[in-house]
Amino acid sequence: MLPYQNLHQAEAALGRELTVAEKLWFNYSANKPDYLLHYHNILFLVLVYSTAPLPYMFIELSRSKKIEKHKIQSKVKNSFQDMLKCYKDVMRTFIVVVGPFQLSSYPLIKLTGIRTGLPLPSGREMFWQLIVYFLIEDYTSYWVHRLLHSNWGYEKIHHLHHEYSAPMGFAAPYAHWSEILILGVPAFLGPALVPGHITNYWLWFVLRQVEAIEIHSGYDLSWSPTKFIPFYGGAEYHDYHHYVGRRSQSNFASVFTYCDYLYGTDKVSPAFDNDVENINLLHAPAT
Ligand SMILES: [Zn+2]
Ligand SMILES: [Zn+2]
Repeated sequence: MLPYQNLHQAEAALGRELTVAEKLWFNYSANKPDYLLHYHNILFLVLVYSTAPLPYMFIELSRSKKIEKHKIQSKVKNSFQDMLKCYKDVMRTFIVVVGPFQLSSYPLIKLTGIRTGLPLPSGREMFWQLIVYFLIEDYTSYWVHRLLHSNWGYEKIHHLHHEYSAPMGFAAPYAHWSEILILGVPAFLGPALVPGHITNYWLWFVLRQVEAIEIHSGYDLSWSPTKFIPFYGGAEYHDYHHYVGRRSQSNFASVFTYCDYLYGTDKVSPAFDNDVENINLLHAPAT
């Protein structure tokens, strides 16, 4: 909720005219309590989980020869029913765990100092904060993911995410409820350490989920804009991790490749050398 009665008061407080985006934000958020703005994140997550995998779903169902050459595990074909089942499972976990967790986490968000008022952040501020969030999340989730591949972690928790050895977009958030909560910590760490504006907080979660859906899509699309991001792992990179499954000891990172390179987990396990031939891995990890 903004501490101004009207636009003039806001402009007087800022000592300048509001930008178009700030006027829109004022009109939208002036009378909304902060907790309600925080809860928007739940809607955005549902929207992303429900819509971002759809283009991949249509690609998969089209069975187009042109697109099929981009399919990483080309022998695996998912039906509409397969995808619908995965989506329903994800939504069930979301309703039972993620939603209530988001609802109850507001006091924590408030503590971090994520702001909701004016001025809105500049594009530069948003960009650098997002870079920091991605780096923090990538590094910490790398280590969490490695722990989840311990015998105990895999058997009790992580095996569920690996049920899809050939992942699909809808399977990105398909995981044990406790894994979703555990991996929420690395995602939340960036905004907690470098708090910004709530609009950037929303954007961060949306981008991170879109990225997760892309790397689980099962397609390595050569025209994807993410190809221009330095050290970006991508779909093929993560698909290999799923393909190897339980015994996977490589490709742990969720976004970039540098952690796997630094800590020596960018290597294919010798036991799987031959398996690489069975899938369309264009850039298989080093042997
Ligand atoms: Zn894993
Ligand atoms: Zn995965």
